Amino acid sequence: MTIRTHPFDDDKLREECGVVGIYGVEQAAARTVLGLHALQHRGQEAAGIVSYDGRQFNAHRALGHVADNFSSEQIIARLKGHSAIGHVRYSTTGETILRNVQPLFADLEFGGFAIGHNGNLTNAHALHRDLVRRGSLFQSTTDTEVITHLMATQLRGSVVDRLIHALQQVEGAYSLVALAQEMVIGVRDPLGVRPLVLGRLGDGYILASETCALDIIGADFLRDVEPGELVVLDSSGVHSLRPFPAQPRRFCVFEHIYFARPDSIVEGSSVYEARKRIGAELAREAPTPADVVIPVPDSGVPAAIGYAAKADIPFELGIIRNHYVGRTFIEPTDHIRHLGVKLKHNANRASIENRRVILVDDSIVRGTTSKKIVEMVRSAGANEVHMRISSPPTTHSCFYGIDTPERAELLAAQNDVKAMAEIIGVDSLAFISIDGLYRAMGRPGRDSNQPQFCDACFTGDYPTRLTDQGVGAPAQLSLLAETA
Ligand code: SF4
Repeated sequence: MTIRTHPFDDDKLREECGVVGIYGVEQAAARTVLGLHALQHRGQEAAGIVSYDGRQFNAHRALGHVADNFSSEQIIARLKGHSAIGHVRYSTTGETILRNVQPLFADLEFGGFAIGHNGNLTNAHALHRDLVRRGSLFQSTTDTEVITHLMATQLRGSVVDRLIHALQQVEGAYSLVALAQEMVIGVRDPLGVRPLVLGRLGDGYILASETCALDIIGADFLRDVEPGELVVLDSSGVHSLRPFPAQPRRFCVFEHIYFARPDSIVEGSSVYEARKRIGAELAREAPTPADVVIPVPDSGVPAAIGYAAKADIPFELGIIRNHYVGRTFIEPTDHIRHLGVKLKHNANRASIENRRVILVDDSIVRGTTSKKIVEMVRSAGANEVHMRISSPPTTHSCFYGIDTPERAELLAAQNDVKAMAEIIGVDSLAFISIDGLYRAMGRPGRDSNQPQFCDACFTGDYPTRLTDQGVGAPAQLSLLAETA
């Protein structure tokens, strides 16, 4: 018997992590649980919280969803203290092991230190190799542990000094929350690839990947943590440091397209409104006569609303999603596996039959899901099926914390748009252009000399060195494979 992630989810890019950090709030861990629950879309395979109660650190980590693992009163009672950090994680198969579940914790010379990381370091393998040669003993297979080992090798300075020293050696993307005795720290890498926001809750403060985590606990949004900024939350308030040389911002544009929750504000922009603007721009760039605009739920909905409004074509819910399908599905036979697609989505014949349909989705990864959706819509009686995609073609892998298949598996890396349309089985296919995407984000277009976003999975223009790629680094940093 095979247990696989549902095939619909297999054909999506996946955000690998979300983080929360709270300082100076009663029952900080209980609020961290709520914040992580709001960030569950950023990682569904594991969750963890570390709190500090003035005397000791307390941790609970588990594989699975936040609600399944942090609902018990006993667990919350054990996570005592006014400060806590938490993490939700998605990982690729083989790495879903408890020792990788964050926040990671280390007993360093100055005391305990816990850290949670959203992003991915692109020189972790090279640093790991050097550290192991110098005697470091790694406990996990995550890139994040490199940071605590680099801190341990720094023999002097405060916890903040040592963290800065470590981060000055890493490359790649990181939005971090960290917990030490009497302080919570938040840091964004100098390019600001992944999000991190700061909020206020009573007399305390909260850091989170997205504002939806502030909303759920009634915290007020104060501001984004800026790219290259390190904030210290302690008993005297918020202290902001700028320890890295300034660099042009390169926020992940895919957060606006797909990863972030539509009710979040990221980088000063409503995700929902940005997606509607992208849909409208797509309608301007790639119009086609049709009777109905239908989103591929749920992530295609805001772009489809924007497309339909701009094209003046009725918007209908032509595909209904079953929200009660579990994250994994036990697939005993190939036949059942083949039927799997209908477990999660079904065509709504009433809004499709005898109509020319425009389907709007956010991306095409391998194309397997798109093909099945198109078959489903045709079986429901559509006269024509046109597909419009609210991202440019995904032609390159991400090395900054998004799980993307190898380039060879990306449909757009191997085929032009015409060939993709044939494979998926649509009458026409169009993607928003990279300039159109920048226009929808309020820019005149993409300036290739100084792009304002990371858009590497569409352009191959990676904003950092990819040190580990040159040395054939393995996907994980340990030889030990464990089961959970
Ligand atoms: S490569 Fe793509 S998904 Fe990864 S950070 Fe850049 S824009 Fe985002």
